[in-house]
Amino acid sequence: MLPRFAYLRATTVEEATQNLAANGARVHAGGSDLLGCLRDGVFETPLVVSLSGISSLTGVSRARNGGLRIGAMTKVADVATDPTINEMYPGLAQAAGVVASPQLRNQGTIGGNLCQKPRCWYYRGEFNCRRKGGTTCYAMVGENEYHCIFGGALCYIVHPSDTAPILTALGATLNVAGPRGTRSVPLEQFYVLPADDATRENVLEQGEFVTEVILPTPASGLRTSYRKERDRGSWDFALAGVALALRFDGNRVADANVVLSGAAPVPWRSSEAEQAIDGREITAAVAAEAAEAAMADARPLGKNGYKVQLFKGIIEEELLAIAG
Ligand SMILES: Cc1cc2nc3c(=O)[nH]c(=O)nc-3n(C[C@H](O)[C@H](O)[C@H](O)COP(=O)(O)OP(=O)(O)OC[C@H]3O[C@@H](n4cnc5c(N)ncnc54)[C@H](O)[C@@H]3O)c2cc1C
Ligand code: SF4
Repeated sequence: MLPRFAYLRATTVEEATQNLAANGARVHAGGSDLLGCLRDGVFETPLVVSLSGISSLTGVSRARNGGLRIGAMTKVADVATDPTINEMYPGLAQAAGVVASPQLRNQGTIGGNLCQKPRCWYYRGEFNCRRKGGTTCYAMVGENEYHCIFGGALCYIVHPSDTAPILTALGATLNVAGPRGTRSVPLEQFYVLPADDATRENVLEQGEFVTEVILPTPASGLRTSYRKERDRGSWDFALAGVALALRFDGNRVADANVVLSGAAPVPWRSSEAEQAIDGREITAAVAAEAAEAAMADARPLGKNGYKVQLFKGIIEEELLAIAG
């Protein structure tokens, strides 16, 4: 059952930021994650502020920098089908198209997808684990088959978003509104590793929320893709995923961005894979070398060692596919 809380449907960004400044107030976008968290007692809130009455937060349009602006309240389904996104950044459309199920893509927003809470079953259950302010990580030696193989310390979640890795690979920036005004945060600096603070997922302060995602103009020769492997084909979070944004000069990779999902508490840039392909033609040998390099520093837990082989397979296959 949902607990009691006050509810406000803001109609302007200013009204939303003013009300969200109240201690513990929460943003409501599509509600597909938020309401589950409240119902399951993951956290409490005195006030839920809906952004659904702020029309300026929805839609896809050209940004001043020549790239693209995606309003935070744009549905994930619309990101998947938008013709301009499909033309400019097909990897982003692919990623949005494999988020959850059609119903959830029609309800969930891109802002909510980037800011959703982790799926660790201890966190979602009745365990006062470290992410909830407790002193123990139950997953570290418990049921950790879906947990991270990179970046874990104190807490071993994987970041659940499918759109965050490809947006990171594309060099997206988030525009954020808050009680003290607006600011821009590169997506690569938006998420917080547990070693820095195991109780928060991102750098947003109380009262702040994401208003839009800004993408740079695609460079000439850019090719993008997103691939994910999951337990159930119909809908599920990534066991392992790879987002690629590679700029080609002829047959050679001139600039490589390789970001993994299902790997770490944040979208995980694989600089090892990037270095293995940078300046080179992607042959079968180079793809295999990059996949090995990407996993060289993996630190699996007791039950998720299978991810290492899974990642090697999809990185190798995706590099060969994008090279054509
Ligand atoms: C069964 C199930 C399966 C799923 N599978 C996948 C999957 O495979 N891949 C995937 O990527 N996702 C998956 N999801 C997550 C789903 O995509 C998210 O629930 C959805 O994108 C969240 O969007 P929303 O608009 O409903 O957010 P809400 O539920 O409204 O909000 C989610 C969280 O983000 C915060 N928030 C929302 N918008 C903003 C904003 N603009 N600024 C700051 N904070 C904000 C809220 O306060 C809340 O904490 C799944 C969810 C479910 C329930
Ligand atoms: S992995 Fe993180 S969220 Fe899960 S039990 Fe450990 S501390 Fe909690």
